[in-house]
Amino acid sequence: MNVRTRIAPSPTGFPHIGTIYQVLIDYAYARKHTGKFILRIEDTDRMRFVEGAEEVIYKALSWFGLDADEDPRVGGPFAPYRQSERLDMYKKYAEILLTNGHAYHCFCTRERLEQMRKDQEANHQAPMYDKLCLKLSKDEVRKKLEEGLPHVIRMNVAEHEKIIVHDLISGDVEFDSSVIDHQVIMKSDGFPTYHLGVVVDDHLMEITHVFRGKEWLPSTPKHVLLYKYFGWEMPVHAHLPLILNEDGKGKLSKRHGHASVEYYQKLGYLPEAVLNYLSNIVWNHPEGKEMYTLKEFIKYFDITQITSQAPRFDLKKLDWVNSHYIKSMPEEELIKRLLAFDSRIPNDHSVLKKIIPLVKERIHTLSEFWSLAGFFYEKPSVFETPKMADMVSALKNVLEKTKWSHDAMEAAIREKVEKENWKVKDFFMQLRIAVTGKTVGPPLLESLVVLGKEETLSRLS
Ligand code: GLU
Repeated sequence: MNVRTRIAPSPTGFPHIGTIYQVLIDYAYARKHTGKFILRIEDTDRMRFVEGAEEVIYKALSWFGLDADEDPRVGGPFAPYRQSERLDMYKKYAEILLTNGHAYHCFCTRERLEQMRKDQEANHQAPMYDKLCLKLSKDEVRKKLEEGLPHVIRMNVAEHEKIIVHDLISGDVEFDSSVIDHQVIMKSDGFPTYHLGVVVDDHLMEITHVFRGKEWLPSTPKHVLLYKYFGWEMPVHAHLPLILNEDGKGKLSKRHGHASVEYYQKLGYLPEAVLNYLSNIVWNHPEGKEMYTLKEFIKYFDITQITSQAPRFDLKKLDWVNSHYIKSMPEEELIKRLLAFDSRIPNDHSVLKKIIPLVKERIHTLSEFWSLAGFFYEKPSVFETPKMADMVSALKNVLEKTKWSHDAMEAAIREKVEKENWKVKDFFMQLRIAVTGKTVGPPLLESLVVLGKEETLSRLS
């Protein structure tokens, strides 16, 4: 079998980190089976369409190194890959359903549908279309169409039919067709709804495996029916567990900044660390490893071993994973990433090679580099606590006379502190604040060695 997986995002805003986790699974599965990973843009909901969102999706996928093999930009054998450019196809397949009696025209007005919904709500009934237009005769329909009345096309779902969704992760899930709404499949604007678009495209694009979030599971019985109506073989489906908020309540919501991919890009997370974390919250490495490369994930991963339990998103754990990646990254590589990330960092490898060993154990993200090591490049202008002028000038006098090495500075400082009966801790803290502006930072005397005598003394002045 030629494995073909796909991600089908709607261009409605900045991609959610949950989308990347789905992409990761789709991408890994395709790579594992030497198949293809496809990106299709589902832009049929014109109300939610956001200009530029498609570009952002490409950028996000590239950032993670998960580019698709076929997409609207690079094209492919099943182009176009943007649903708004495939309207003729949906029209053709809707006609087939109409001809076979699996769909019908509906002319109900918005007002009527609103009233129906209100009545259902008042009677504590589930909101569903009451099938009024199903009763129209062929002639009545023809007349209304000739009159040019606005209409939609709905799916005709037989009652009391058992529908089984075969899911690779959750097993067989059973639904009763009586609870399935006569869903609109074609809107009055000529655009299909998600259900028709997704089934037609997954079929025509020869998708073999549909991996998507569990929130889509209630839609899948409708898709099972559509595949049946068309007489098509249904791709394998797996509904991935949703990523929950840290407190375990609800899907990781947009309220949290870190639901958006942009958050990770802006704060300087490493894409490979984020992918490692995302895979590890739903899957266990056979050797119990927590850190592994994407290549290793692809090698060992088995879709049926994805947990069906929804994981919580633990940002602290991700920080820990990210800091591990920073610590273990070859120095030249880390320099490259830092320079690409933060334009304030001067491109001087020899200086960076002195600073990095002092800070790399202490940062979780690339953005923390500047907050911790910015003082090497810029004099501080803000000081975290008031300076103690007498100690600072005493420090300057002491350091002026010492040799510029860690041990010589330490000995001189201790001697002075003893003589004056000051606390060593206070003395060092004043030195740190005067030179770096902050109360915490990398090892101090090692940092002063890198900063140099002249610069240190000028800051103390
Ligand atoms: N357009 C849907 C979305 O925005 C696709 C869902 C699916 O994968 O079937 O996620």
